[in-house]
Amino acid sequence: MNEPRPPTAEEQLAFLRSLQRLLDEGSFTSSYKFALLHAIADLCIRKGDDSGAELELSTSEIAEQFVRLYWRQVAPFVAGDDKRVLRQNTGQTATVVRELAERHNRYQGSLAELERSSADWGDVRRRVEQTVRRMPLWRLQTVGSERLEFLYENVDVGGVVRLEPGVAYCFRAFYPMVTDMIEGAWSHFVQRRNPQLLGQVVELRSFLFGSRRSSLSAYRPLLRDLQHGRCFYCENDIKAGGDVDHFIPWRRYSLELGHNFVLAHKGCNSYKSDLLAAEEHLERWTERSLVYRYELEEGFDERGVLHDWPATRQIARWAYRQVHQAGGQVWVQARELRPLSDDWRQILSAVPHAAA
Ligand SMILES: [Zn+2]
Repeated sequence: MNEPRPPTAEEQLAFLRSLQRLLDEGSFTSSYKFALLHAIADLCIRKGDDSGAELELSTSEIAEQFVRLYWRQVAPFVAGDDKRVLRQNTGQTATVVRELAERHNRYQGSLAELERSSADWGDVRRRVEQTVRRMPLWRLQTVGSERLEFLYENVDVGGVVRLEPGVAYCFRAFYPMVTDMIEGAWSHFVQRRNPQLLGQVVELRSFLFGSRRSSLSAYRPLLRDLQHGRCFYCENDIKAGGDVDHFIPWRRYSLELGHNFVLAHKGCNSYKSDLLAAEEHLERWTERSLVYRYELEEGFDERGVLHDWPATRQIARWAYRQVHQAGGQVWVQARELRPLSDDWRQILSAVPHAAA
């Protein structure tokens, strides 16, 4: 086998063109294909690397991402006096939507609760996985009568897909743009299938995919305790309130896992905006997750906040590498930015120096 190599500029362009064709020309009778593409992009961040190598994904991993994507969407949508779960397909209610809507109701919207009930969680994952294998997986790359097999080989059976060399690289390199394309197409699709409910609605996309304005205030007391009432960035006291900030900015990757939240002054948060934080902040952040490992996890569990430190760190590594490769800058304080140095690698290296 050849050594992996990053795709050339032309190959990257070809990838984007094919993806665009898939979204423009593919026939979509349900939103599963959008979810599948989104899930693959997410898994490339969580599992892939930038070598250009192929990447193997199991259908159970894809199913888990499916659940995360649809969980928010199966909440009843309210428009005036009408309150219903949005349609995601033509014909009967899509299996994944039906299965998840029922659990959403049963667990009052808490995905963490569902994940803790191991029998039900196993059951729902299995059902979703069956659907993934039966429906979108081997049909995704069909465009009219043409097969556009640029992501993986269509073998039509089985529980594993092997992403072609360069695919994980491209999903990682263009993640914000690619997910933007997918979410835009998905939103249009849902809008068209729910005309009575969504005729006048403009906030559909933030309902489906969340918004950085979503309320994070539930995490404030926990973070306030852990940070001794101080701002995560400038380390001065926070007199009242304070903003719950996504350490890895929401705009770059909607990482809603517990470790990604820090408490900061409104001012510090707004200066930081969509930038990555400088190395000294990054170091403080990784240290916090080690030093307060048990307090954090216990606090997250008590409040029903999902958490997964290895996945969170993996996503952080991706985000910093992206900025580093682009020769980008990071946020230090107030209006001060500086180019990202090489230190982020060491800080985010897999082996913690002070594992408790
Ligand atoms: Zn501050």
